[in-house]
This record gives sequence, structure tokens and C-alpha cells, in this order.
Amino acid sequence: MILLRKLSTNLTSLQSNKSVTCSCCGHKMESLPLSVRKWTCPVCSAGLDRDVNAAINFRQQGMIKLRAEGLSVPANGGLRQSGHKPVAA
Ligand SMILES: [Zn+2]
Repeated sequence: MILLRKLSTNLTSLQSNKSVTCSCCGHKMESLPLSVRKWTCPVCSAGLDRDVNAAINFRQQGMIKLRAEGLSVPANGGLRQSGHKPVAA
């Protein structure tokens, strides 16, 4: 529980930068008005949706923090589904 609280605090403190930091190359925009929902990174030319970009950055940062705490993170980021399929009764 303490670990989760610590991670939550750390993620919250980084929240303000997540939507303006390119999830492809890490470039941080100096300023980006909240009204701008889609933007193009001037460094790598990636087209980014502000909310999706922030979500990707949160996920990446969370995985880094979990690894730093010595917790395992699946190589696929937990996206692969289990090979066990539910069987109908
Ligand atoms: Zn970029």
C-alpha cells in the first residue's frame, strides 16, 4: 500500500508534463495551450493526440518506476492475453 501511495504521488507530480512531452522521442514542448488537443512534435514529426500521448507517457513512467522498485513488469507491458480461454459450462 505504501508503494502504491508513493507511486501515485510520484506520478501526480509528473502529470503536468505528460501531455506536452513527446511519447516517441521525449521532446518537451515549452508551451502548449490546453485548447490544443492534437500537435506535431517539432523534433520527430510524430502526430500526437494530447490525451493518448499523456496516457502513453504515464504507462512508460509507471513501468520505469515499478522496475526501479524491483517489481517485475512483463516484457510486453502486460498487453498479451493469457493463453487460457474460458470454457463454457
Ligand atoms: Zn518527438
